[in-house]
Amino acid sequence: MPDSRQYKVFKIEQGTVIDHIPSPRGLAVFRLLSKNKNSLISIGLNFDSKTLGKKDLLKFEGKALSKKETDKISLIAPEATINIIKGSKVIEKRQMDIPEEIHGIIKCLNPNCITNIEKLETKFRVIEKKPVKVACHYCERNAVVVPDMVDKGE
Ligand SMILES: [Zn+2]
Repeated sequence: MPDSRQYKVFKIEQGTVIDHIPSPRGLAVFRLLSKNKNSLISIGLNFDSKTLGKKDLLKFEGKALSKKETDKISLIAPEATINIIKGSKVIEKRQMDIPEEIHGIIKCLNPNCITNIEKLETKFRVIEKKPVKVACHYCERNAVVVPDMVDKGE
């Protein structure tokens, strides 16, 4: 399916399109952004993709995503691209920017980690980027980031 057709499926005038989310991560990405309750949101699942096999996509009408929101998305869908739409045209394409270090945002999976016992802010080193794999600064536990680790608040 060519890209142009996907944009016709639910075209938006102005807003943000998160494209190339590997299926089935689309709904997990949506849940991370569910604070945006007032936006008109379209969700597309299981589009054919040459690079990903199947991909999901999300469209937020009239919504510009914050840096923190983009950071969260990058952790569970590093392949995703952000398209900024104005006047029904893509005016900017952003690749995900995965930081070297992550503060807060995700929690450590080790129940004995000090960050879980003393409610410290978490700190992780990124050791792989696709998928995103992190090492806890405090207990050294390594983990591939899964949606359940990511904080859904702001
Ligand atoms: Zn830890």
